[in-house]
Amino acid sequence: MSLLFTLFFFTADTHRKKLTLLKIAMNTYQNISLKPYNTFGIEALAHTFLEISKIQELNEIVKSGVIKDENFYILGGGSNILFTGNYSGTIIHPTFKGIKILEKNKSFALIKVFAGEIWDSFVDFCVENNFGGIENLSLIPGNCGASPVQNIGAFGVKVKDCVKSIDIFNIETAETKTLLNHDCQFGYRTSIFKNKFKHSWLITSTTYELTTGNHNFITHYGNVNKELKKLKEVSLKSIRQSVINIRTKKLPDPKEIGNAGSFFKNPVVSIKKANEILKTFSDAPTYLLSETETKLAAGWLIEKCGWKGKRVGNAGVHEKHALVLVNYGDAKGTEIINLSEEIKKSVFEKFGVRLETEVNFL
Ligand SMILES: Cc1cc2nc3c(=O)[nH]c(=O)nc-3n(C[C@H](O)[C@H](O)[C@H](O)COP(=O)(O)OP(=O)(O)OC[C@H]3O[C@@H](n4cnc5c(N)ncnc54)[C@H](O)[C@@H]3O)c2cc1C
Repeated sequence: MSLLFTLFFFTADTHRKKLTLLKIAMNTYQNISLKPYNTFGIEALAHTFLEISKIQELNEIVKSGVIKDENFYILGGGSNILFTGNYSGTIIHPTFKGIKILEKNKSFALIKVFAGEIWDSFVDFCVENNFGGIENLSLIPGNCGASPVQNIGAFGVKVKDCVKSIDIFNIETAETKTLLNHDCQFGYRTSIFKNKFKHSWLITSTTYELTTGNHNFITHYGNVNKELKKLKEVSLKSIRQSVINIRTKKLPDPKEIGNAGSFFKNPVVSIKKANEILKTFSDAPTYLLSETETKLAAGWLIEKCGWKGKRVGNAGVHEKHALVLVNYGDAKGTEIINLSEEIKKSVFEKFGVRLETEVNFL
């Protein structure tokens, strides 16, 4: 027993020393509240929080050995995460910034953006400089490091359409790699970073290939065309403005009410299954994906089960958008999960469709 105690204190002491060294090298916090770091506004404590403001600091972390002692998690802007309780490991929060134009000619430009840049500021930079391709992704919260992780998408565009390459760093071994678009296994709200490369590989920067002339405007999704008519021109700037106008009207602002955007993915089902649903509910929105598969609208399924605008304690389903779960104030992560489970259950009972969460749990 006493040997175990000695070992415990020795390990704890060594870890403390490693942390002290890190504190000299970078912003290191302990038992810090994560509430300001997640758009759901969930209160949770992180045992250790490392803010990486310079890319070189990543090497310091590996050298210190701190990561070997504990679990760790990479956190960007916290807009796609639900904290389910206190986190006993180390949060690694990259804030290093920079946008570099690597190449530019009459038809395209290669732009490298570092992980800590705010995604929407990057979109704004591109639109202002006449770099086309990501304007439809305006106003999506979060940081540039996370955008390829779930292959963010909106209004007919996904980041995968414009990603040229991604630089990554292994937090455990300090190995670096550059992945090309086709290495990233992009899919609907997924990529290699949600699967094989989850946790240990940190995206340090992403290079986008964007148009400089002959822009390919995508305006037929949602109400983009309708909104564009009010602005009387079709340009990168007017598309960005239209998307901002639509999103501001439709989606709850996390500064006003805690949320992480769409909580569930739109389920992909067989055409046979979709036809079964259409027999009873002829108004069900369906999007044909292939000869065998169709995508259903998760928000519609949830609304049909009567959840839209419902509140259960401090958690609820947004009144305008059934796909968005909200924190009315002091909700715990577990309350949001319980609500999401109830929703999943009722959608399965009514439609025989299993909903999958889009938001990451920690
Ligand atoms: C109001 C609202 C609207 C939204 N609308 C959309 C939308 O239209 N389309 C859409 O696709 N998403 C949308 N989202 C979801 C969210 O904005 C995106 O998923 C965003 O890319 C998350 O970025 P983040 O920096 O906040 O990531 P976080 O929430 O911090 O992290 C998300 C995941 O990425 C990992 N990660 C973060 N940074 C890195 C890194 N540098 N390297 C490796 N892994 C990393 C984390 O470990 C975690 O698994 C919305 C969210 C909100 C709150």
